[in-house]
Amino acid sequence: MTNRQGRIIVLTGIPGVGKTTVLDATLEAARASGSDEVVLVNYGTVMFEEAKSKGAVEDRDQMRNLKTEVQREIQRLAAEKIADMAKDKIVIVDTHMLIRTPEGFLPGIPTWVAEALCPNVIILVEAFPEEIAGRRSKDEARNRDVETVEEIKLHQELCRAAAIACAEVTGSTTKIIMNHDGKAEEAAAETVKLFKALKR
Ligand code: ATP
Ligand code: MG
Repeated sequence: MTNRQGRIIVLTGIPGVGKTTVLDATLEAARASGSDEVVLVNYGTVMFEEAKSKGAVEDRDQMRNLKTEVQREIQRLAAEKIADMAKDKIVIVDTHMLIRTPEGFLPGIPTWVAEALCPNVIILVEAFPEEIAGRRSKDEARNRDVETVEEIKLHQELCRAAAIACAEVTGSTTKIIMNHDGKAEEAAAETVKLFKALKR
């Protein structure tokens, strides 16, 4: 579907599963092996820059409570910005398949974002629901929603469905990478292996 030289990897997982942690370890491993072609992009950060410049929010955790039509517009602007970054690089987009809003789950990658980004691979970072609940309760750096273990399980299952729906639109492959407690480096090693497969 795409004729660009670079590759886009969408790396998703529910809040607190450890996406950013795994990505930091991935970048370190990639750089240690001499690769300088990997660029990390946090979709929420790009959206936050857009939302802040419009005066819509002051804090990134306020974004999921904006009216969904405002979130969709900001989402679209961010997709165009990110697609521009993938020239001859591997761009990893740290994002969510679903955003829990007061109006229900909002897709992080609706069709128009999927078509703008056209990812080669969608990675789903997963862990046991109990592990995710434990991480969220210990993470004081963020203002996180409270979900029960059952709600976390459902949220993770819905993200699988959303990933496959996105893959059907773009032809992307989908890969599940487990990030169990204390095993972020193993998850990072799996991600680096994927870069090698993509460069063939
Ligand atoms: P968000 O979607 O909200 O940005 P995230 O998926 O990026 O969340 P992180 O911020 O990377 O999640 O991690 C959430 C918390 O879980 C952090 O406190 C982090 O240190 C911890 N954590 C991540 N991975 C692991 C792991 N493998 N073992 C133990 N703790 C972990
Ligand atoms: Mg994160």
